[in-house]
Amino acid sequence: MKEKIIEKLSEIVGDRLLTDIDERVSYGYDASFGQYMPDYVVQVMSAEEVREIIQLANTYEIPIYPRGASTSLSGGPLPVHAGIVMDFSQWNQYLEIFPDDLLIKASPGVKTGDIHQLAEEHNLMYPPDPSSSSICTIGGNLAENAGGPRGVKYGVTKDFVLGLEVVTAEGEIIRTGGNTVKNVTGYDLTKLLIGSEGTLGIITEATLRLIPKPMDTKTAMVIFDDLYTAGKSISKILTSGVRPSKMEILDQNAINKVEDYARLHLPRTAAAILLVEVDGDPDALTKELNVIQRALLEIEVDNVQIAKTKEEEARLWQVRKLVSPAIVQSGYTKISEDATVPLSKIPDMFRKIDEVKKKYNLNIVVFGHAGDGNLHPTINTNMRDAEEVSKVEDAVEEIFRYAIELGGTLSGEHGIGTMKKPFFPVEVGEAGMLFQKAIKQALDPKNILNPGKIFPEAGEKRLVLKND
Ligand SMILES: Cc1cc2nc3c(=O)[nH]c(=O)nc-3n(C[C@H](O)[C@H](O)[C@H](O)COP(=O)(O)OP(=O)(O)OC[C@H]3O[C@@H](n4cnc5c(N)ncnc54)[C@H](O)[C@@H]3O)c2cc1C
Repeated sequence: MKEKIIEKLSEIVGDRLLTDIDERVSYGYDASFGQYMPDYVVQVMSAEEVREIIQLANTYEIPIYPRGASTSLSGGPLPVHAGIVMDFSQWNQYLEIFPDDLLIKASPGVKTGDIHQLAEEHNLMYPPDPSSSSICTIGGNLAENAGGPRGVKYGVTKDFVLGLEVVTAEGEIIRTGGNTVKNVTGYDLTKLLIGSEGTLGIITEATLRLIPKPMDTKTAMVIFDDLYTAGKSISKILTSGVRPSKMEILDQNAINKVEDYARLHLPRTAAAILLVEVDGDPDALTKELNVIQRALLEIEVDNVQIAKTKEEEARLWQVRKLVSPAIVQSGYTKISEDATVPLSKIPDMFRKIDEVKKKYNLNIVVFGHAGDGNLHPTINTNMRDAEEVSKVEDAVEEIFRYAIELGGTLSGEHGIGTMKKPFFPVEVGEAGMLFQKAIKQALDPKNILNPGKIFPEAGEKRLVLKND
């Protein structure tokens, strides 16, 4: 049967079918954990090719695993039941801007950074800005509903999508939404598909909304002596009357990792720093930062340093960009979580993470999108040390459960994938999970699209970081 499938796939995509083991092996991983071996890899370049492959997959009941740039931190594109990896990274040719309509259309393999650049060339902005934007694809962003630092003011990917072209699990090409902000014709399928992690349909084109590019930005660094006050300051700033365009936090461990890595003269002894950006009319920006400063004084926070030049401002944001590389460089394995809590609970979450860090004696770094309550407790560990791995699994589980207890969520932006599925019912409840499964069953009756994701399979009750 394998020969027959290879023959049919090559009729559809020609030499963009990869079957050699040394080629397939590099499609078995993402930026999280686990290594799997797909049977076939197809580098698709059109909705028609996707449609034909899905029809073939239905006939032979072969799973399809969509894959963008594989920067997923939750196991999203991993081919856990082998089958076909559908690679979109080569399909990046179509990117067209319609400035008068404030929209951009893109094929799924276009890099998010290229969308930012094209919009800015027209004095417009596509706000969703995942830190991985120079490498990740818009298809992957849509499937994960990616967010980024600008989320605090502008929202996340779903807030900037007007319409999609999608190939359904049964091989039909459909369009959802359209080219207008207002569109209430039928169910909001666009929102259903965004964040569905490639399990409900394959996205083959996106129509994205743009906004005017803010005229200017200004950034301040707030330095804290204790983490609890840093947590409290977030709600204080957001209720000051000013809406920051970015608000990112780094704890002491993160500060020191960046300083070890890049020597940027950061305050090593601070418990945390908060980077706060405001954007808009240049005449208003200093006034807005002063409003924030006055609000912080009410909780006795007075160490606020405002960047005086564009170079200083760029240096501050460089600090945030370097957190991930600095962590990667300082240990064997980096496990990034994205538990998210209501803003008022951020101080409690910080306290819990500190407790977990001491209890399991782990190297945990905390940074993240403070203004969204979206923290990234990140563990530096050694996956070859079985005892250490077991401690990490317990620690991560404790963090997940506490975030849910606080009224938060398992994932603010990385998705459930394989990594978090044992805890999915803990957050949504059994009935909530069955409701979501009913949608999957109705739209993908043969379970062709990205099976083994989001919903726990038999016996999966605990976080398991290894698949060997
Ligand atoms: C250093 C680093 C920083 C990061 N920072 C952020 C951040 O700030 N914010 C954030 O949200 N995430 C972040 N991420 C996570 C990751 O970059 C995002 O989840 C991103 O959206 C994944 O895009 P991708 O192209 O790599 O997709 P992949 O990882 O290849 O796939 C992600 C999911 O999308 C599905 N998929 C891909 N293409 C399609 C398609 N065309 N149709 C249907 N399904 C599809 C896949 O099956 C999978 O489930 C970061 C990752 C790294 C490594």
